[in-house]
Amino acid sequence: MAIVELHQLTKSYKNNRGISDISFSIEEGEIFGFIGPNGAGKSTTIRTLLNLIFPTSGSAAIFGKDIVKHSKEIRQDVGYLPSEVHYYDDMKVIDLLTYSGRFHRNFNTVRMKELADGLDLDLSRKIEDLSFGNRKKVGIVQALLHQPRLIILDEPTGGLDPLMQHYFFDLLHEEQKRGATIFFSSHILSEVQKMCERVAIIKEGKLVQVESIESLTKNKVKNVTLIFKVGEPLHIELEGVIQQEIKSNEMRLLYSGNIQELLSKLNGLPLHDVLIEEPTLEETFMHYYEK
Ligand code: ADP
Repeated sequence: MAIVELHQLTKSYKNNRGISDISFSIEEGEIFGFIGPNGAGKSTTIRTLLNLIFPTSGSAAIFGKDIVKHSKEIRQDVGYLPSEVHYYDDMKVIDLLTYSGRFHRNFNTVRMKELADGLDLDLSRKIEDLSFGNRKKVGIVQALLHQPRLIILDEPTGGLDPLMQHYFFDLLHEEQKRGATIFFSSHILSEVQKMCERVAIIKEGKLVQVESIESLTKNKVKNVTLIFKVGEPLHIELEGVIQQEIKSNEMRLLYSGNIQELLSKLNGLPLHDVLIEEPTLEETFMHYYEK
């Protein structure tokens, strides 16, 4: 069953693009990634789904219910972690979490304490005394304490140190085992690759592609930098070069061809050095546009 369904969802701001014509769906139990550079429209999509802002046109449903007509009901079973968390500073963490937890029928103080313990979050501290990372942890507990059926995470890992990130990812896998569906937005390709089964790629307010991680990683695009010996001609004949750039004695290629073929071609060239790397997110996007 589709837990989230978007039909040509569009949100225009007065002077800004927002999102246009976004359609995709998320199946029950999936960890679904939503990836795109900053300003692509991820938060706009999420905030529209949560009915924090109204769609300009198109529609969407969560649990089969219209996001505008049934937003209150939907929110009961949704856990949301915003990209930036703002709280009343002079509250204690435990008071804030108890207050917001009470709005949900499944609120459970044992689960709240368990989550705080796991994240190493001191519930007795005042919000104003917390670091950015600790505020993020408050947001995580708040998003998970009522065992929601759908968890929506907007850039969740910012501010978490690597150890906490690891713990957080384990936590999400546990939630998935419990049956939760997870919508995970990020501009960091590697973490989406690690966590998600499928991803929707968004750029400049438009959906570029919806694809499984498996087929994403099958397209093994590489960045290849060839440093030629000074005075040698910069030339390579190779199939699978998507893009080529030359600067003094350096040639940069975006390459999607066979790696053996690349290596054997390199063998015959007057090279000083070679670098083969994963492309950045933007370069991966370019690859999608070319297809
Ligand atoms: P992302 O979450 O992917 O970084 P956003 O959804 O925040 O992207 O932004 C998408 C586009 O909508 C950007 O061009 C941004 O400037 C614009 N935008 C976002 N929020 C507002 C707003 N409240 N008013 C006007 N424009 C906005």
